[in-house]
Amino acid sequence: MSAAESSPRPVSLVTGGAGFLGSHLTDRLLAEGHRVIALDNLITGSIDNIEHLAGNENYEFIKHDVTKYLFIPGKVDFIFHFASPASPMDYLELPIQTLKVGSLGTHNALGLAKEKGATFLLASTSETYGDPLEHPQKETYWGNVNPIGPRGVYDEAKRFAEAITMAYHRAHGVDTKIVRIFNTYGPRMRLRDGRVVPAFISQALEGTPLTVFGDGNQTRSFCFVSDLIDGIFRLSRHATHEPVNIGNPAEMTVRQFAEKTLQLIDTKSEIEYRPLPEDDPKVRQPDITRAREWLGWEPRVAFDEGIAQTIAYFREVLGK
Ligand code: UDP
Repeated sequence: MSAAESSPRPVSLVTGGAGFLGSHLTDRLLAEGHRVIALDNLITGSIDNIEHLAGNENYEFIKHDVTKYLFIPGKVDFIFHFASPASPMDYLELPIQTLKVGSLGTHNALGLAKEKGATFLLASTSETYGDPLEHPQKETYWGNVNPIGPRGVYDEAKRFAEAITMAYHRAHGVDTKIVRIFNTYGPRMRLRDGRVVPAFISQALEGTPLTVFGDGNQTRSFCFVSDLIDGIFRLSRHATHEPVNIGNPAEMTVRQFAEKTLQLIDTKSEIEYRPLPEDDPKVRQPDITRAREWLGWEPRVAFDEGIAQTIAYFREVLGK
């Protein structure tokens, strides 16, 4: 009998376990008394994010590409499917891998959930709403996605992932959950993943121009990672199979975020305007009524507090 089979603890499998969100989710699951098996092929994840777990007897890391056949011995109670390139720069550089992990990877992870009788939670995204024509975005909105644009590889892979997740629920009775994750920030984001939070903070710390794309009037709503993970953990325990938005409704323009960064970091950096990437959503803000009413969840960490922790993390990484 394997260690997992004999474990009285719930066993959770986290795909993308060495990523930004996967590693924070792992920490939470371990703190909740789970045994965690983390899978990652490390194309965008990093061993640095899981180094602190070395030697933890309730933790196992397997370097594996979830788009390839998956065999896990012993019981598995929860599968959290978090593997995917997730920043626009990453999925532009890794278009085929992004499509494969959202399609083949989700299929494999669902097949394993069916085999094990595990609860399956899909990390979906606000990108399923595309460049939204409804604002703020409710889960009932079907979205406005360009299937053949550069972001289509991510958006459509996640939309396919939601569709196959619901199909496994309806056809095979798998206990499935879908979280639509809005912009999230915090320690362990990759310094150069191209996303706006690490980009502006590292540019300010290095004294280089803050690269605002377009006129900077596009909006995003930023959620601190601990809040997001709390919402996801609650959803994994809830009976619903409907998608649930998790994100912070506090909306700001990209230019406001750039100005805030310049106030918080003593720097000689200035704002520099660059062309807006194709299909960049003009607005984004979650309607979190479902999360509030169904999960009793809402974000607790104020932006100023979360961003201070994130700046401290990047200072350490950069030695600044
Ligand atoms: N952005 C920017 N400068 C950067 C990186 C991003 O102005 O160096 C903008 C980007 O055009 C978008 C917003 O910031 O409007 C958020 O981009 P991010 O890549 O973080 O994620 P997205 O929300 O687009 O998935």
